[in-house]
Amino acid sequence: MKPTASWSASRFGKALEALAGRRPLTMLGRWKARRVDPFRLLIGTILSARSRDERTDRVCRILFRRYPTSGRLARARPRDVRRILHDIGFHRAKARHIIGSARRVVEWGRMPDTFDELIQLPGVGRKVANCVLVYAFGKPAIPVDTHVHRICNRLGWVRTKTPEETERRLERILPRRYWLRINEVLVAHGKAVCRPIRPRCGECHASRWCRKVGVG
Ligand code: SF4
Repeated sequence: MKPTASWSASRFGKALEALAGRRPLTMLGRWKARRVDPFRLLIGTILSARSRDERTDRVCRILFRRYPTSGRLARARPRDVRRILHDIGFHRAKARHIIGSARRVVEWGRMPDTFDELIQLPGVGRKVANCVLVYAFGKPAIPVDTHVHRICNRLGWVRTKTPEETERRLERILPRRYWLRINEVLVAHGKAVCRPIRPRCGECHASRWCRKVGVG
């Protein structure tokens, strides 16, 4: 059965409200609450890909102690940055990307705050750009990572193959008032309960609104 707009809107709200605040904030959620500088949030988001929050957070503390501004990071020697990032996945590419992004921000003379600008930075794809809009600038966007993609499909909100498809579909069906919250709520939920393998449906506060699509 294909969800109707009103069916979806009521379930989005109920499921998200039921899940909100149940789990510890994600790294980006904590940074948003602390109003971390947008440039640092950009760098942290690039570094967070395929890296656990705790590790990314620790590496970022060291990185920002040594390179506190975009100007300092823009002038960094790649090998020094690589050494700091060594503990996180894809550290070579990430070192290149964050130095390149810092240089671009310095050239532009300001931190970009639109999707079209952010997407031009090295290492920035749709998810990172949307995360920066939401978490650094409070602008409505829908960052879709693997957690959001997986959970929206399990809930029965979308039937999509890729995160990008999920993003486009959610843009059409998810009421705008949920855009700033969906990523934080579902990423926290996906790490703790609706895990990729063996989701803990028995502990899930959204269970009654979930179609459990593809869950064995
Ligand atoms: S009921 Fe299960 S599949 Fe549905 S959101 Fe909760 S944990 Fe995920």
